[in-house]
Amino acid sequence: HKYVYDFAEGNKDLKDLLGGKGANLAEMTNLGLPVPPGFTITTEACKAYLTTGREPDGLAGQIEAHLESLEREMGRRLGDPDDPLLVSVRSGAKFSMPGMMETVLNVGLNDRSVVGLSAQAGGNDRFAWDSYRRLIQMFGKTVCEVPGEEFEHALDEAKRAKGTKNDLDLDADDLRGLVDAYKQIFAKHTGREFPQEPREQLDLAIRAVFESWNAERAVLYRRQERIPADLGTAVNVVSMVFGNLGPDSGTGVAFTRDPGSGAQGIYGDYLANAQGEDVVAGIRNTVPLQELEQLDKTSYDQLLGIMARLEEHYKDLCDIEFTIERGKLWMLQTRVGKRTAAAAFVIAGQLVDEGLIDLDEALHRVNGAQLAQLMFPRFQLDHDFQPVAKGIGASPGAASGKVVFTSARAVELAAEGESVILVRRETNPDDLNGMIAAKGILTSRGGKTSHAAVVARGMGKTCVSGADELEVNVPAKTFTVAGHTVGEGDVISIDGTTGKVYLGEVPVMPSEVVQYFEGSLDPEHIDNPLVRAVHRIMTHADAARRLRVRTNADTGADAARARRFGAEGIGLCRTEHMFLGDRRELVERLILASGEREREDALAALLPLQRADFIEIFREMDGLPVTVRLIDPPLHEFLPPLEQLAVNVAVAQERGEDVAKEEALLAAVRRMHEENPMLGLRGVRLGLVIPGLFAMQVRAIAEAAVAVARDGGSACPEIMVPLVGAVQELETVRAEAEKIIAEVVGDSGVEVLIGTMIEVPRAALTAGQIAEAAEFFSFGTNDLTQMGWGFSRDDVEGAFFWRYLELGIFGISPFESIDADGVGRLVRIAAEEGRAARPGLKLGVCGEHGGDPDSVHFFHEVGLDYVSCSPFRVPVARLEAGRAAI
Ligand code: ADP
Ligand code: MG
Ligand code: MG
Repeated sequence: HKYVYDFAEGNKDLKDLLGGKGANLAEMTNLGLPVPPGFTITTEACKAYLTTGREPDGLAGQIEAHLESLEREMGRRLGDPDDPLLVSVRSGAKFSMPGMMETVLNVGLNDRSVVGLSAQAGGNDRFAWDSYRRLIQMFGKTVCEVPGEEFEHALDEAKRAKGTKNDLDLDADDLRGLVDAYKQIFAKHTGREFPQEPREQLDLAIRAVFESWNAERAVLYRRQERIPADLGTAVNVVSMVFGNLGPDSGTGVAFTRDPGSGAQGIYGDYLANAQGEDVVAGIRNTVPLQELEQLDKTSYDQLLGIMARLEEHYKDLCDIEFTIERGKLWMLQTRVGKRTAAAAFVIAGQLVDEGLIDLDEALHRVNGAQLAQLMFPRFQLDHDFQPVAKGIGASPGAASGKVVFTSARAVELAAEGESVILVRRETNPDDLNGMIAAKGILTSRGGKTSHAAVVARGMGKTCVSGADELEVNVPAKTFTVAGHTVGEGDVISIDGTTGKVYLGEVPVMPSEVVQYFEGSLDPEHIDNPLVRAVHRIMTHADAARRLRVRTNADTGADAARARRFGAEGIGLCRTEHMFLGDRRELVERLILASGEREREDALAALLPLQRADFIEIFREMDGLPVTVRLIDPPLHEFLPPLEQLAVNVAVAQERGEDVAKEEALLAAVRRMHEENPMLGLRGVRLGLVIPGLFAMQVRAIAEAAVAVARDGGSACPEIMVPLVGAVQELETVRAEAEKIIAEVVGDSGVEVLIGTMIEVPRAALTAGQIAEAAEFFSFGTNDLTQMGWGFSRDDVEGAFFWRYLELGIFGISPFESIDADGVGRLVRIAAEEGRAARPGLKLGVCGEHGGDPDSVHFFHEVGLDYVSCSPFRVPVARLEAGRAAI
């Protein structure tokens, strides 16, 4: 079995096997770019190690062989005392997990080869000892779990002794002393000396990278990002190049376009005389990459050339890591870079203009989750809000909340329902929990590529980084800025697009993308590149998609807004909302009616109100189908709660008031009490038990449609019967409804369809029969999930879903994204058997899933005619329906 690949043997499409980093190092090597030689140990080796707890057979030998050939190529042996080869040991999974796993640099250094390294560098002792102390530090922390702060403290101590804050001021002797201190720390925590044998260092480091796959923060990150838990990481062994050799050396990171806005140009950070992590760790302040032109024009020009080449090759935004060793440029990493939602749209549009991709590909490159982000509200700054600081807009959005300084406090306050802004000098992987809990993240150090920025962008969370006017004092739980002192619990607002920070709570307004959807921005005449890109890609999605998109709306206002957002009808108009407020009393009268007369009176009072509701909605949806669901919830939901009534009755009796009505209500509530109301008297069952109720609704719908038609409009009502499990239920309702419709509609030309929800598993399984009595099906996937799994939706999410997610029983709540295998199978069966019984049967879905990207793809694939979702999700569903179709 082949477990080890030389860089020259791989390519960018082997990410499953070589991880993203390894596959792209191979790709760059084969493009002829300057990549330090090395090899990749596969994810399969990692998986084998993680299942059996030991290296698979043959791995050690293959590593040996590849190491030997690397040594031959470099003309140096690993850790040779006189002329050592040093390597880095780098994790690299299929999906990038920034900072989540481990990397060890300078492997191969020991008490003897440190001298050889210095000689190689022309007697540069400072450099050699700096490299050695870094190895002990990284190796100790990563491989042997020595607490990182201990090393940090020792470093701070050395700087204090020297009277400096800058690690560059430490000379060779200081660093040699530091190596001794580090070794003592290492020995104290591990009970052994720092390993001097280079090959042992290498093997232990490889093993640690394997194991870092299961580090707590990596597990948490994967769950958050929905990365499967069983992929494993590859390990890259790369010959070292040195950015810490002096002022003519350095290291940097760069993007080929702005990952925040998508704008073209060169974006990056550079740090002279530094190694690896220094750039992103925010240890010293980096300079913008453009300044490299002054420092080393040859390398700068070469770098720009390589960046252009990479973009053309990957046909996408790339991010890169590079190091300059004494004027020689080395590429250490590239990948298709993460970006904000806005940048994703803008870049996709630009690449189409540049002829690198076509519109189908552009549509692939964006997704509904990103579009949803662009619909977040923005700060409304027309009042006297002056920013107190400006950092880097690292991840867009507008967030206000209470300031917290620790991850733990963020989690605590968020659990109490507070919005919090996590404020730190810089974040590190241990802050992940707090970052998840916070509404926004604000740091005083670090650029667009800092930990905070990268992770926040990945989470779609608002982040301002590098606001260096902020003096953050974590122990005191305050920060000071522009003469203000802000403490824990004070409210601030941060704008992740502009990087501005405000004291207090700034009001918000709709984003430009929402304004565009609302129709108040003309896409053809606007120079906002984001709106232009959204318009273009949405237009393409609309042309490509087969699924229609409707909305769930219960009022004329919602219907109107959804229509502007592109809804092509209403897939679910709930009528129960129409019985609330003042009308509750009429429902009470209906429930308490003691005879036919009283009941008919109550219904007669409701009829004109319902009719008026429908007229409004039909007008807004003129010419488009409107599915109206007959009343669905148990009637006692319209009555006051039992306890409250009991108290009212008691109090009134005490006062000697007339309590006849309250008593009657109380009795009704007692009589109607159900142990499992969601499985009780509701939906079609109500219609069959309470004479005249459905009839009144059907009449109101038909009369409203006729009224609209008479005014020259066009109403296309579809009456939907909820909770049907047997065709006989539907037939009974249908027989009565048809009579009323025929009577009301007369020769007005109005057409009213009658169909049913498929939300009880039995309905899905007898769909062939039910289709005989239904002109359409609408899948109520909320109830279908609830009844399919036997999960009470209102109870399970808080009670135990976290555990199911933790155990991986499902990767996402089945109420959020359709469970394709189980509940989805019911949908598939019903769609097939329903259409077999009645060709042309209209099929739609009206659960929350209608606006969920993955579910939209599933419904497309099953062949439904439309999805229906809340107005704000309509653009998301349109986009995803387009993506599903190409
Ligand atoms: P991460 O995945 O967290 O970015 P990397 O494996 O890329 O971790 O390495 C961490 C840092 O060390 C990066 O800045 C990288 O460029 C640097 N680095 C890794 N390997 C080498 C090497 N062989 N020579 C010099 N620097 C290296
Ligand atoms: Mg890296
Ligand atoms: Mg339902």
